[in-house]
Amino acid sequence: MEKITSLAKRRGFVFQSSEIYGGQNGAWDYGPLGIELKNRIAQAWWKEMTQLNDDIAGLDAAILMHPRTWEASGHVENFTDPLVDCKKCKSRFRADQIPEENLSAKKCPDCGGELTETRKFNLMFNTHIGPVEDTAGLIYLRPETAQGIYVNYKNVLQSSRMKIPFGIAQIGKAFRNEIVTRNFIFRTCEFEQMEMQFFVKPGTDEEWYNEWKKRRWAYYERLGLKIDHFRWRQHDPDEMSHYAKDAWDIEYLFPMGWRELEGIHNRSDYDLSRHSEYSGKDMQYIDQETNERYLPFIVETSAGLTRNVLMVLCDAYDEETVEADDTRTVLRFHPHLAPITVAVLPLMKKDGLAELAEDIRQELKADFATDYDQGGAIGRRYRRQDEAGTPFCITVDYETKENNSVTLRFRDSMEQVRVNRADLCSRIQKEIKEYKRIK
Ligand SMILES: [Zn+2]
Repeated sequence: MEKITSLAKRRGFVFQSSEIYGGQNGAWDYGPLGIELKNRIAQAWWKEMTQLNDDIAGLDAAILMHPRTWEASGHVENFTDPLVDCKKCKSRFRADQIPEENLSAKKCPDCGGELTETRKFNLMFNTHIGPVEDTAGLIYLRPETAQGIYVNYKNVLQSSRMKIPFGIAQIGKAFRNEIVTRNFIFRTCEFEQMEMQFFVKPGTDEEWYNEWKKRRWAYYERLGLKIDHFRWRQHDPDEMSHYAKDAWDIEYLFPMGWRELEGIHNRSDYDLSRHSEYSGKDMQYIDQETNERYLPFIVETSAGLTRNVLMVLCDAYDEETVEADDTRTVLRFHPHLAPITVAVLPLMKKDGLAELAEDIRQELKADFATDYDQGGAIGRRYRRQDEAGTPFCITVDYETKENNSVTLRFRDSMEQVRVNRADLCSRIQKEIKEYKRIK
């Protein structure tokens, strides 16, 4: 993980937030390559959910919601962690994450000092809206994006003429006041979610639940990831939310072990019945054909976008021995996810090669995310692109001046082929479409 963290900083994927002030715990900034990677992961998910599914619509709800939302959702009451403090060294721990003997002896696992009683700590950030800091102005930063979907379900239904079964997809920021943040961008206080809530007729929920489990697994398979680093894990009855009928996680084998990447949950009709109760509005669905009225069940697929960024970085990271004393660091991103798709490199700056390379880059810009690099030996420039995960490099040399052909170099195999300038765009598009990860 240290190698990935340091590469992420060096190459501009992820920086510590407010680093010049010593850093802000639980928050990270996405640099020039990081934001491109994050955007591409978000786009891949969005396309999968909305463009490829006629029965899913998109939504972008506000981060600030009416505080009653969080009473209805149960977050005000239940979204808590058990917390203990050390009176001596002031360290703070989640009571369920320190050894049992420390907890019963009230002994700090770090310094041996005395621990406080366990108390409940709500993970929601709260602030105040309006000029007066009173309880009337109390408002929360949303701890999940899902509630924005539930409260809008009738708006979407009516405005887009959807019929059950249908889904609503949303990508957005969420905030949790985590006591312990760790493992780089894995667990942070500010993060992004990609959630899809699928509304179904009660009785068909188990069928749809299994369908979405299948679809979400297939999605990760298509992204060219190491599929043996993925597994299913069912929630134990005691870790399952009280409303959930069934809950499975897709886990990924991160450097620190197997961790949750995405949850697929059968939430029954809990959410809509709670919002009916707290808002006094009828949230029932009326089937126009049969005149049946019912509260839909909800099947949720909930993934962390920022957690997916970490997964994709870990999955792509490779150190390859090229020759006995020569290793290269390479990020084997799927071309759909790579921040830069094509880098154009003139062999030399002189003799008009730089101008020619710039010209070719201009031509490719409309179709691909491009980069241009003319500094240093060509071998070093290839390695720089390998480290950024750029799947294709184009080298412009003296032959280009003679016959308009260029060298196309593949990141994964380091193979080079000669391609006509006129065929470059279609060739790269073909390579992207047919991309298969080889290592
Ligand atoms: Zn202590």
